[in-house]
Amino acid sequence: MSTTLKLPELFGSMVFNEETMKERLSSASYKAWKKCVTEGTSLDISTANEIAEAMKQWAVEKGATHYTHWFQPMTGVTAEKHDSFISPVGGGKIIMEFSGKELVRGEPDASSFPSGGLRATFEARGYTAWDPTSFAFIKEGSLCIPTIFCSYSGHALDKKTPLLRSMDEVSRQAVRILRLFGDTETKRVTAQVGPEQEYFLIDKELYSKREDLRMTGRTLFGAKPPRGQELEDHYFGAIKPRIAAYMKELDETLWSLGVLSKTKHNEVAPSQHEMAPIFSDANTACDHNQLAMEVMKKVADKHGLVCLLHEKPFAGVNGSGKHDNWSLGTDTGKNLFKPGSTPSQNAQFLLFLAAFVKGVDEYQDFLRATVAFAGNDHRLGAQEAPPAVLSIFLGNDLNGVVQSIIQGTEFKEAGKRNLQIGVDVLPSIPQDNTDRNRTSPMAFTGNKFEFRMLGSSQSISGPNIALNTMMAEELKQFADQLEKSSDFQADLHALIKQVFTEHQRIIFNGNGYDDSWIVEAKKRGLCNLTSTADALPMYTAKKNVELFVNHGIYTEEEINARAEIHIENYSTVIAIEANTMVDMIRHDILPAVSAYATDLCERADSKSALGVSSKYETVTAKSVAELTDALLDACDKLEADVAAKPADAKEAMAYSHDVILADMSAARAAADKLETITAKEYWPFPVYSDLLFSV
Ligand code: ADP
Ligand code: MG
Repeated sequence: MSTTLKLPELFGSMVFNEETMKERLSSASYKAWKKCVTEGTSLDISTANEIAEAMKQWAVEKGATHYTHWFQPMTGVTAEKHDSFISPVGGGKIIMEFSGKELVRGEPDASSFPSGGLRATFEARGYTAWDPTSFAFIKEGSLCIPTIFCSYSGHALDKKTPLLRSMDEVSRQAVRILRLFGDTETKRVTAQVGPEQEYFLIDKELYSKREDLRMTGRTLFGAKPPRGQELEDHYFGAIKPRIAAYMKELDETLWSLGVLSKTKHNEVAPSQHEMAPIFSDANTACDHNQLAMEVMKKVADKHGLVCLLHEKPFAGVNGSGKHDNWSLGTDTGKNLFKPGSTPSQNAQFLLFLAAFVKGVDEYQDFLRATVAFAGNDHRLGAQEAPPAVLSIFLGNDLNGVVQSIIQGTEFKEAGKRNLQIGVDVLPSIPQDNTDRNRTSPMAFTGNKFEFRMLGSSQSISGPNIALNTMMAEELKQFADQLEKSSDFQADLHALIKQVFTEHQRIIFNGNGYDDSWIVEAKKRGLCNLTSTADALPMYTAKKNVELFVNHGIYTEEEINARAEIHIENYSTVIAIEANTMVDMIRHDILPAVSAYATDLCERADSKSALGVSSKYETVTAKSVAELTDALLDACDKLEADVAAKPADAKEAMAYSHDVILADMSAARAAADKLETITAKEYWPFPVYSDLLFSV
């Protein structure tokens, strides 16, 4: 990318965005598109044809030769199938063609994407349909059209369809509440999301020597290096030139794709970094985060680096998460989670806050399940990420307000007794920029909630679908009740007080990393689902299925299918890790340590022949031999247990957690001890100090 290109010109240069549409479409077509986006109307085929033609011309001018429907199947990564624009016109010639029909709908073969059984009874074909609310863009010579992906019978097979449904639903219910407060202007409320993305960068050459990194994205072996993150010198530390060059190209590529990459810095662990964009609507944020994860990997490759998005690439140093900053904003530019300056604004804020508190309390198990997968199990509750228990951090000021409402006691800051909702003004609640409580899974940070349990590799779609839908449900309940009220102020006050009182157990302002919190949480009756195997069954708990079905986000078949996909994925990931481990033990570690022990014995022999002490050789050879036996036994057991995995998916999940993971840690323990006593030249792959401190 040229360094002379100015940022405003670079930004969005590869995006067929609103401004480009305005320039290149007839005003009728532009208006039809705009109406489609703001009011959810459908596009007629002649408008679609005109948009397709304009898109193609623009893309071809930018050097694109292909187009693809870009979608987000249940694999959690994006999928694309490229078709070229070429169309023969006779005489061995071609023209570049792209029709409205091709823009609006595609028919990829769905049979190779996880469907959780939704596809089995129908045909293999899947359908993709243009999402006109997300801009098309050019990536590596292809015009990418963001689409939804569904089955022949209309079941959602992707992560975008239910997200869009949940955004519509929370908007509908939030607007009902706003009307009660006299807001007649707002037409739409948008779920807004800013995802902070953590990642590791390591040297590509070292990476290529580790089968575990290549196959599973994390190290399955590795003794603790002499130095980890103890010195705390990496966090926000000066960025090294090679990393800086990477970050520069990453930013430029993201900017050209219209991604609002804003913040970059080093993270806690060596080789760990973060990228945060400026927030946008949840759908765009999700598309952009998927795109960002892809670009991060590709740019790394160009710099001789590998970007690891796994939640726990290295044992013993911090893993990577994703902070999902979430709020609701109106189309008139107001943030509904921003405490206001008038009594009425504050009453409205407190009602939205109450809905959120009630929602998180009632759906804590489901929220937990949306961040449950094999990789994230290594972080949650491990003193580097929030515990597996959901709770909400409000901070002292807001908590003071909530407590005074619950208890009807003196409300200090305002110097008043009995805070009257809708009558009194709240004390000013400062925006929390200092990240005071990093240990909370769900922290209020002044005008948004920061959901911190997400893993770095996951799509942010699932957690945001859950936040939007639980919020829609609570707002619906409130609206149903308050719309019938004859004394709005009194009923509002009573409702807010009742909700805070009944759901205060979910509010926790202390240290989430403290063991005593887990004891306390249990007393409060909060869920502590410590592993994916415990959390995923909550996906299909009756109340959760009802929530999503009642709001039209998932059908019962769709939610069951999703649970099945997640459950299967867990056992599959662990099986791949186990098989990789067996492979590395048999092909790399055992031959290496055997050679080393033999060499030690030979040296001991020749030394004793000369009457020279061979204590080091003898003692080490014995230790190596003992650990080699232990490793061999552990490997045999692991292999046998993997082969004996139950066929039933739910049983396989529990078995993978209870049996296979335990086998894997036994094998790892023996291998890691061997690593510490084996001479460097014998050890078959790069060790932690190489991997973590090489760039
Ligand atoms: P930190 O969490 O490190 O204090 P910031 O306050 O800068 O960081 O916010 C982190 C992320 O939250 C950014 O992506 C930012 O754009 C996003 N964000 C800020 N305000 C909102 C909001 N109202 N809704 C959703 N996300 C927001
Ligand atoms: Mg943050």
